[in-house]
Amino acid sequence: MTNLPKKHLFDIPEGMIYLDGNSLGPLPKGAAERATKTLTQEWGTQLIKAWNTADWMALPQKVGDRIAGFIGAAPGSVATGDTLSIKVYQALAAALKMRPDRRVILSDTGNFPTDLYMAQGLISTIGKDYELRTVAPEEVAEAITEDVAVVMLTEVDYRSGRRHDMMEITARAQQNGAVMIWDLAHSAGALPVDLTACNAEFAVGCTYKYFNGGPGAPAFIYARPDIVLEVEPALSGWLGHDAPFAMEPGYRPAMTTERLRVGTPPIVQLSILDTALDVWDGVSMAEIRAASIALCETFIAEVEARCPMLTLASPRDAAQRGSQVSFAFDEGYAVMQALIERGVIGDFRAPNILRFGFTPLYIDEADVRRAAEILGEVMDSGAWKEPRFQVRSRVT
Ligand SMILES: *Cc1c(COP(=O)(O)O)cnc(C)c1O
Repeated sequence: MTNLPKKHLFDIPEGMIYLDGNSLGPLPKGAAERATKTLTQEWGTQLIKAWNTADWMALPQKVGDRIAGFIGAAPGSVATGDTLSIKVYQALAAALKMRPDRRVILSDTGNFPTDLYMAQGLISTIGKDYELRTVAPEEVAEAITEDVAVVMLTEVDYRSGRRHDMMEITARAQQNGAVMIWDLAHSAGALPVDLTACNAEFAVGCTYKYFNGGPGAPAFIYARPDIVLEVEPALSGWLGHDAPFAMEPGYRPAMTTERLRVGTPPIVQLSILDTALDVWDGVSMAEIRAASIALCETFIAEVEARCPMLTLASPRDAAQRGSQVSFAFDEGYAVMQALIERGVIGDFRAPNILRFGFTPLYIDEADVRRAAEILGEVMDSGAWKEPRFQVRSRVT
């Protein structure tokens, strides 16, 4: 495999091997300059005029169209803003309204907690007799029965990296009359996604992971173009209105995916993201996927050769896996702290998962081999047993 010639486009501290881009991507060069321009030249000198003069008002849609290109979505079908949790809520609320005779939201027990929490919160708001039903990931297809209103799943499991088959599950959901929502948090920018071919009604995702938009970067939501006018926004904010500046007293949704916007867009974050997406010029998702698989395969082989005490917690078959590799170890938290001290940054997910993300834009073969070597040293020496590595931080 050839390494992608993109590493120089990121600011990664000397000596650090960053295997956590699946949680927070690193700083792309040019992002700070773009943020400074937005702050000083636009906000600083143009103030409120900048909504027009710097075209801030067009930025959410411009960035949405760029994201659409990564996930097989038509231009105009992706709205940006808010956080992924909010976008999950919006998709769920709209999907439930599309199936008024049904009461079940189906998800899996491996889903990211906030997706399940938002479903619980929505249910407690709308009351009636709605139910969030969760089954083991392997049992989802079987569990799609005719009482299910909405199937809400994350394609790539945040802990194990296991992938759902988007095409197959969407088809099954739709055969049974359910609406399909995909969370692409660990897919967008990590592997090829074709929403148009998949035909799902909704998809959501975030941009601070594989798109490197920085902490607090806006989320996105996709609605299939032919259903947009059926979407009843639960969060009926003024920027999803058909004519925000008409200041009408009554809500009238925009006639496009823009109806899934809520309030004032995060312009500084959007401008950073707009620049972060430039890094992708000239690389295809197919190339990224091929490189990612090669890196993951190398890492698994190198770690298994050195660390028999670690158990692979990701699917062994690359096709069944996203762009991350996880290993289970009871003292995983301490091991990760020891690794981080040695410049290898991954993360820990309770209860016992060491998680490593592989992002070929800025990770190469040499990094992967070195990271496995350092992990081997930490395990062999028992360095992780030092008491200070047991102390838990707020963010793991
Ligand atoms: C990262 C992630 C989130 C985070 O949601 P925020 O609202 O952006 O904090 C939600 N869902 C999934 C599946 C994730 O991986």
